[in-house]
This record gives sequence, structure tokens and C-alpha cells, in this order.
Amino acid sequence: MSARWNRTRSLILGRCKQSSREAPVGQDRGPSAGRIHRLGLAGNVVALAVLVLVCANSELLLHERRPSAPAVNHTSGSAPPGTEAGVADRRHERLVLVVIDGLRADTAFNPQQMPFLSRLADEHGRATARVESLIPSSIAGIATITTGSVPPPISFLSDFGAGAARHGGVLQAVAADGGRCFVAGPKLWTDLYGQWIAAAELDTTFGRRDERLTEAALAAIASGQYRLVVLHLGRVDAAAHHFGVASAEHAAAAAACDRAVRDIHTALPAGTGLIATSDHGNTQAGGHAGADPAVVTTPLVIAAQRRPDIDHEMPQSRLAGLIAEHLGVVQHLLVDRPSRISSRMSSLLKIGTVALAMLCGLALCSATSGRSSGSRQAFALNSAVWLGLVLCVLGQVETALLAGLSVLAAAALSPRVRIAPVLIGCCALGGLVGGLRLWDGAAALDDLPPSGSMPGGYELALAAPLDFLVSQSPLAIVFLISIAVGVGLQACSRGTGSHALTGAALVGAYVVLNRILGETVSLSSIAVRPGFCFVHLPGGLLWACLWVLAGQAAPAAGLLLGSRAALLNVSGQDFGKFVSGAAAMLLGQLLLVACLFGSPASGQTLQALGLGLLARVIAESSYFFIGLSVILLVSWLGVCERRWGRPHIHLPLADRACYNLRAHRGL
Ligand SMILES: [Zn+2]
Ligand SMILES: [Zn+2]
Repeated sequence: MSARWNRTRSLILGRCKQSSREAPVGQDRGPSAGRIHRLGLAGNVVALAVLVLVCANSELLLHERRPSAPAVNHTSGSAPPGTEAGVADRRHERLVLVVIDGLRADTAFNPQQMPFLSRLADEHGRATARVESLIPSSIAGIATITTGSVPPPISFLSDFGAGAARHGGVLQAVAADGGRCFVAGPKLWTDLYGQWIAAAELDTTFGRRDERLTEAALAAIASGQYRLVVLHLGRVDAAAHHFGVASAEHAAAAAACDRAVRDIHTALPAGTGLIATSDHGNTQAGGHAGADPAVVTTPLVIAAQRRPDIDHEMPQSRLAGLIAEHLGVVQHLLVDRPSRISSRMSSLLKIGTVALAMLCGLALCSATSGRSSGSRQAFALNSAVWLGLVLCVLGQVETALLAGLSVLAAAALSPRVRIAPVLIGCCALGGLVGGLRLWDGAAALDDLPPSGSMPGGYELALAAPLDFLVSQSPLAIVFLISIAVGVGLQACSRGTGSHALTGAALVGAYVVLNRILGETVSLSSIAVRPGFCFVHLPGGLLWACLWVLAGQAAPAAGLLLGSRAALLNVSGQDFGKFVSGAAAMLLGQLLLVACLFGSPASGQTLQALGLGLLARVIAESSYFFIGLSVILLVSWLGVCERRWGRPHIHLPLADRACYNLRAHRGL
């Protein structure tokens, strides 16, 4: 029995191997035939172009920024700040910093929603702090307020758990001056600055323990042991993510935080100042990853005897200096030197580098949509992507940039250099689509409504938990439409005969379908509310992320499903043209991002939108190229199963189990 099974197995494996050897490149209409190499090549061309773009703009994307902080004047200043006399004067001054997570400026200054805070603002002057991070998040807000340095956009990945920070900003300055700090808030504070925090009360439940945190902060103030007490409340942000800003839940959370500020203010001993602010705002739908005015405008109320003479609107990074000034520890604030490499690169060189990478990529795609499947080039590019990532993690950004560019150039030069005109057309189409996306993203930015407005009944009804089900219906409809669009593209491809254009159209169709779901290039428009329903369950954060990701990938999955038959029934060469067209479309958008990052004139909003477009392109290339690999793999397994009776996968344990089953049944 065993011998017979082994013989059958070797026969199957042998015949399968034989069949793949026999298939001539570019002629077989089966699911393999050099398709995977062409797919790998196009996917890795986009990945390497992204790597080159990120490395060329590492100053903006990978490094901490430290904006220059102008001196602060005090309205009732006896001695100028920073001098020995000024420091000695304020040796015993204390401060309570209240950070209300995700609180918008219009909510904070609304007398109906936050009566105490808005009255305090009227008494002491209402100001706003402008978030400078290109991806506003809690960790970016905490780090900017504490240290005065704006962390890189990538820091949002550490929003739910981070490593120890290199310097502790005002917390370190207080400790260096012999003072003690107390923090009541999310665990991020001790993750980052644990070594400079004397005592803490932590919360990992997304705002469910705000009352406990307030009590702990009140006890710390009453003890008189701490120079700086930080209270970071999480309820408002959680309510915004779960129900939206115009919900009754959000209004209740804001009212609870208002009471907490009132209790803290009432308990303040003489000579202790209070600063109330937030780490970032939220859009109406409850997102905060983009540069929408409602997200980057945070309230700032400074209730202190020696009130600094500040502007009506100031950058968030100046808060650290203000806090240090108030506590008289400004001489201990550490200043980071700016990054070394990218500041030397001129904007023209940055754009040129990305354009060169893109041209090499187009040449490669053109060459391999012909007879050659480009297996060696695909392997070289893939190795370069992984090597580049390792080098970036090790901090060798210049080497990664050089390696990525040279591998692209070498791979492009190995076949005859010739860029197919249709790919240049696809690339230009990509640039046009990218431009339209940026324009649409800028037009759809969530603005602050006039202060004092209250949510209407309709908005409140929409914010109910039933919203989860309601929000899933458009997604299901878009998924069905995307399958139909895929089938339509298939017919269109037969009509025009240009597979490259069909590839580009597939990417364009995803953009349109995703826009129907309300997603623009502003990362604030990512629909987090359905996913946030899961965060309080065990392992909820993972489920929430997976749910949000599934919602994003659904239109791409539908398009690939719809056009599946067309992709599998064309020759290897036509498949190569198809993936090259899609890659060229993505590269065109990347070139636009490079121009935006390289141009010194583009402000924070445009740069954040450019970063949003970059993130969208990375996500879309992953959905399409990984999705296509899955389709190839599934159809390949299906073909083997149809031809040989069982799939062409060698799994020792599965074989053994199969054998045992057969033996048990007496086969
Ligand atoms: Zn936050
Ligand atoms: Zn949040």
C-alpha cells in the first residue's frame, strides 16, 4: 500500500515538474508560463521606486524634526526667562498638564459642550496649537508636546506600544533639576519616558478608566511631591473613533472631561499653573491620520499667574519650551541636531533620483512584457528591496538609496533599453490621476464648523451602534460593483487589444470605487469606525486593524475576481503587459509625490496629502500584486488538481495523514 502511494506520488510530482519544464515561455495559456516572474518584476519595480522615494526624502519621512523655537515673553515677567535669576525665581513653580486625547478646538471652546473649559479660555485667552506631524497620532502628539521635536510620520505604527525614547524633553529636564513627575494616562507615556517619570497611573482600555486617572492626578497634586503632573484622558478620542464627533457619546465624553478639568482646576494649590490641550483633533467621521484643519487644530488654554505672551495660533512643538519656561527648567531641555544626509540633497536632485528610478522601472517592464519573462531581474530586484529595507532599519539610508538605484539601473540596462510608448502613456495617466486625487483630497478636507454648533437629530441617529451594520452596506455594494467593473474591463481589453491600458484602468477603477466609499488621499478619511467596534474584545486591536484593512482591500479583491478569467486566459506576454501597465500607473503617481516632497513651496497640508497618496499607492500595489499572486497560485493548484487528481504540494505531514486515512479505510 505504502509503496503504491509513494509510486503514485513520485509519478504525480514528476509529471507536474515535467509539465512546467515543457511549457515554452510566452506561449502556454496555462496559469504559470513566466507569469509569476513578470508579476514579481512589476511588483518589485514599484517597491524599489517607493524605497528610492522614501530614502531620497528621508529627512521628511524618517527623521525627527526640530523646528526652531522662538523665545517666549511673559506678560508679567520680572526677570527675562532663561537667565539665572529667572530660573531661581521659578524653582518652586509647579504645573499640571491636561491632555484630552482627540479633542477638537471647536468642541473645547463650545460653551454648551465644555462649559468650564470654554469659560477658562475666555478668562485666560483662547489659543490653538497646530499639530505638525504629517500623520497626527497620539504618540506624535505626546512626543511633540513633551520634547518639542516632531517625530517622523512612521511613528504612528507605535501608537499602541513603543520603545524607550532617547530623550525625555520636559520630563527629563524636571528630573535633571531635581524635581519629580507624575503621569496619569495611557501606557505610551511610561513606554517612552518611564525612566524620567517618578510615579504613574496607567490605562490600556481606550478611555474606560478616565475617572480613575483623574482621581490619581488629584491625589498627586494634593501630595505636593511633584513639579509636573500630567493627566491624559482618552474618552473623547475613543468616542470619536467609535461613534463620530457629532454623536451623543462624544458629547458625553467631552462633558466628562470638562468636569475633570474643573475638578483639577479647583484643587490647584497657589503657584501651580494649568495647561489644557489635546494631542490632535478628529474629523466628523472620527479619523485623525491626515492634515484636515479639524485634526491639526488643537485647543490650548494656559491658566497660570505668569501667563506667557503667546500668539493666538502656535505650533505644537513650542509647547515643550513653554512648559519648561514655566517650570524654570529650560536650561535642561536637550536639543537634537538635525539629520545629516538629506539636507544636503537639493530638491531637484530628490525629484531626479525618483524620476531615474521610474525610467529604469519602465524600461524593465517594457523589456519583460516581450518574450523574456525577466526571472533573473525579478530576483535581483526582490533581493534589492529586502536589502534596502534592512539597510534602512540599520539607519544606512544613503547606502539603501544607492543600492536601490544601482540595482534598478543594472537590471534595466541588461536587456535592450527601450521604453514602450504605451507605458509612458500609462505613467502620464498615473500622474493625471494622482493630480486629481490630490485636488479632490484638498477639496474634501474636513474643516472646523463654526463654533457653537450642536449635532442634529439625524447625525445623532446615525452615530448609534447600528451604524456598524449601516456602514457595511455601501462596502458590500461597492464590492459587487467592483466585480462587475472587472468583467467590464475584460470586455474592454478584448475591444482595445491593449493589455497595458487595461492594467492601468484596473488601478484607476480601484481609485474611483474607493472614492465612492468616501476615502480620499487624506489618511483621516480611512474608515476606522467599523473596526473600532472590536477594540474592547480580547485581541481586539488586531481584529480592528484586520477589519479596517479588509474594508480597504475589498474593491481590489472584487476587481481581481471580476477580471480573473481575462488574466488567466491570456498569454504570458500579454499578462506581462497587463501588470506593466498597472505598475506604470502607480509609478506615475509616485513621481507626482516626489515632485510634491521635493518642492520647497508645498506646505504642511500638501505634504501630508502627498504622504497620503504615497501610502495609498503602497497599499494599492500590495493589494493588486499580492492579490494577483494569490489568483495565480490558486489557479495553478486547481490545474494540477484537475490534471493529476491532487494538488502539486508536497507536505510530509499531510501525505502521512492521507496515507493513514486510506489505510484505515482499507484502500
Ligand atoms: Zn490621540
Ligand atoms: Zn485616536
